[in-house]
Amino acid sequence: MPAPLPTTKLTAHAMPELAHRMSLVKSSAVREILKVTERPEIISFAGGLPAPELFPVEAIAAAHTAVLSSDGAAALQYSTTEGYRPLREAIANRLNQQGSHTIADAILITNGSQQGIDLVAKVLLNPGDAVIVENPSYLAALQAMSAYEAEFVVVESDENGMVVEELENILLTHQPKMLYVVPNFNNPTGRTLSLERRKALVRLAQRHRFYILEDDPYGELRFRGERVPSLASLDTQGVVVSLGTFSKTFAPGLRIGWLSGPESFVRSLAVAKQSSDLHTSSLSQRVVEHLLRTFDYEGHIEKIRTSYGKRAQAMLDVLAETMPTGAKWSRPDGGMFIWVELPEDVDAEKLLAEAITQKVAFVPGNSFFANDQKRNFIRLNYSNQSETKIREGITRLAALLPNLSTSR
Ligand code: PMP
Repeated sequence: MPAPLPTTKLTAHAMPELAHRMSLVKSSAVREILKVTERPEIISFAGGLPAPELFPVEAIAAAHTAVLSSDGAAALQYSTTEGYRPLREAIANRLNQQGSHTIADAILITNGSQQGIDLVAKVLLNPGDAVIVENPSYLAALQAMSAYEAEFVVVESDENGMVVEELENILLTHQPKMLYVVPNFNNPTGRTLSLERRKALVRLAQRHRFYILEDDPYGELRFRGERVPSLASLDTQGVVVSLGTFSKTFAPGLRIGWLSGPESFVRSLAVAKQSSDLHTSSLSQRVVEHLLRTFDYEGHIEKIRTSYGKRAQAMLDVLAETMPTGAKWSRPDGGMFIWVELPEDVDAEKLLAEAITQKVAFVPGNSFFANDQKRNFIRLNYSNQSETKIREGITRLAALLPNLSTSR
């Protein structure tokens, strides 16, 4: 008998086809690009990666040692789907200090906020159900909701975030089940939803009875201006479900996020999570809870804010010096991204192919548009490169653009 082939050489010939829903989920352009940009010689503005030199590696190592020596067996055992209670309490306390009114029982620990998006879509959406999204929107949320066959209805956004005035008109003809929004330092635009619009949005959700899924991974990373109250803190009727994460403040590799919402809805989400992964890592949950108790979390976030603020400013400065007339970009007050609108005749995917030859990368903006994709936008990440590399990379990128002018 011939030796079995290695798995990579096997083909799925004449085997059952993948489920219909898989054709609805496009493989992420970001993920494909990240493969190329992992090469060390490339200055990548493509990934949504935090600055790795700011990961509190030693504190995380010490927290693992402390948890394993004091509580090792429980930290390595199966646990409840809802999550480690002291961590849920610590999260509830922090949210309440920021104006929310939640309790540990209304919090579900998730594998990053990404799992929260998936669970809400799984629990709520039947094929063809309407979901309102900003235009543009976070790509991996669009993918997660596509898998449940959502019908996207888009609302444009401007420098104050989603244009809620436009939503009022949409609601005359559509009855959505949910609306997905990234209110602070949006991915990909870097923009923040204004307080007036937040209030109006919550009022609309209460009147038209749909859930708002408030995805807020970046809210803690404000380096300019005043914090704007969360949608959850403005809600008195249980229409808001909020997602948070320690990915951008501790490290994404821990995969600890949370979901907070009306208690009965959170119970349904816990049922959905149970069949998906039983629970989030018992060890990582205890490590994060230990860190919140013993580590200078505020001081650490302040370091991240300072660093990202400088990097954002470096990118804004070099964009202003090098980009041609006709290009426009957002001015984020926090988070990790700048959204650039290039002159209309520039195709961002073609620009990327050229940029890779110059050892620079970014994400073409088209895949962030749920429906009609615009081709002349790019997303730039500034958190993962030094100020020097930012200058060098943006200068190289701008040199590729036609009609180069320094008139701005
Ligand atoms: N939502 C948004 C808007 C994001 O940008 C990200 C990370 N790229 C996530 C959710 C997922 O983050 P995590 O699962 O690591 O918490």
